[in-house]
Amino acid sequence: MASEFDLIARYFTRAAPAGLLGVGDDCALFPVPPGEQVATSTDLLLEGRHFFPDVDPRALGHKALAVNLSDLAAMGARPIGCVLGLALPRLDEAWLAAFAQGFHDLAGLHGCPLIGGDTTRSAHDLAISVTVFGAVPAGQALRRDGAQAGDDIWVSGELGAADVAYRLLDGQYPADASLLAATRAALEWPQPQVALGLALRGIAHAAIDLSDGLLQDLGHILTASRVGASLEEARMPAAAALASLDEDKRRRAVLGGGDVYQLCFTAPTSKRDAVQAAASTAGARVTRIGQTLTQPGLAVRDANGQPLAALPAGFDHFPGPT
Ligand code: ADP
Ligand code: MG
Repeated sequence: MASEFDLIARYFTRAAPAGLLGVGDDCALFPVPPGEQVATSTDLLLEGRHFFPDVDPRALGHKALAVNLSDLAAMGARPIGCVLGLALPRLDEAWLAAFAQGFHDLAGLHGCPLIGGDTTRSAHDLAISVTVFGAVPAGQALRRDGAQAGDDIWVSGELGAADVAYRLLDGQYPADASLLAATRAALEWPQPQVALGLALRGIAHAAIDLSDGLLQDLGHILTASRVGASLEEARMPAAAALASLDEDKRRRAVLGGGDVYQLCFTAPTSKRDAVQAAASTAGARVTRIGQTLTQPGLAVRDANGQPLAALPAGFDHFPGPT
């Protein structure tokens, strides 16, 4: 029977890059370059709430880190390293090996080595907590409160596929194998836009990553920046797989669907070419979807320029009057 220390040694210990102290001591150590700030973020993933119990463990390892790297991307921060907390209801080494593989593969891709963590047996469901550390030159982070009235609003990648995959797997939509095949990777293998976030420093006024849905997440930028916005539905980069859905479902997926892990950001209209150049440097696709306004509020206009009467809500862990 493997001990906690055997498991850590086997699955979570990798040689740390030069200059870092990784797994094996009481704390990990990493240097902060002069003139830079540490950016840090943590996300908790719970079985049944954030992932299905039977999800591919390699995909889960990938996603547990991806959602955190996405937060660094949204700030324009360069990854330094991460730590992993695991509460395991059972000891399944094949599961752990696959989970670790998915995690380390993405960590390697983004230069974000696993440098510490905690592993414990749990009497409850599986829980995964990842914390990332990044660096950003002081004062250059892309924050939520920097948007100015008259900015363009941009979004990277495509919208809506993850929402559709989630509702199919959850049984909310009737089974459709080909629709699931076309949308599932967006839900299970999100690709954090780290290179785009770095390339947008000095260009974007404000940025956020899309975890809870475009309208809700953009709403956080608008509130923090004290501006409003008008979006054009016809400009939305909806995933091609959504073409077979009716208008309501498509709207719900594109405007309200969560788990996207693309960036939404604002930039002055004078920076349109610079935004496109940054996106091409990062190998990302970006689409201009609207404009920020002096007057508060958020409107989405249909192809005729009419504001949509009802907007889909994003994901809220504590819905209701509280
Ligand atoms: P401590 O008792 O000081 O908290 P632990 O026995 O919990 O130390 O962990 C031993 C070492 O293994 C530490 O360096 C810790 O950061 C690392 N570690 C434990 N669990 C993980 C994990 N899931 N991923 C990465 N490193 C881990
Ligand atoms: Mg410990």
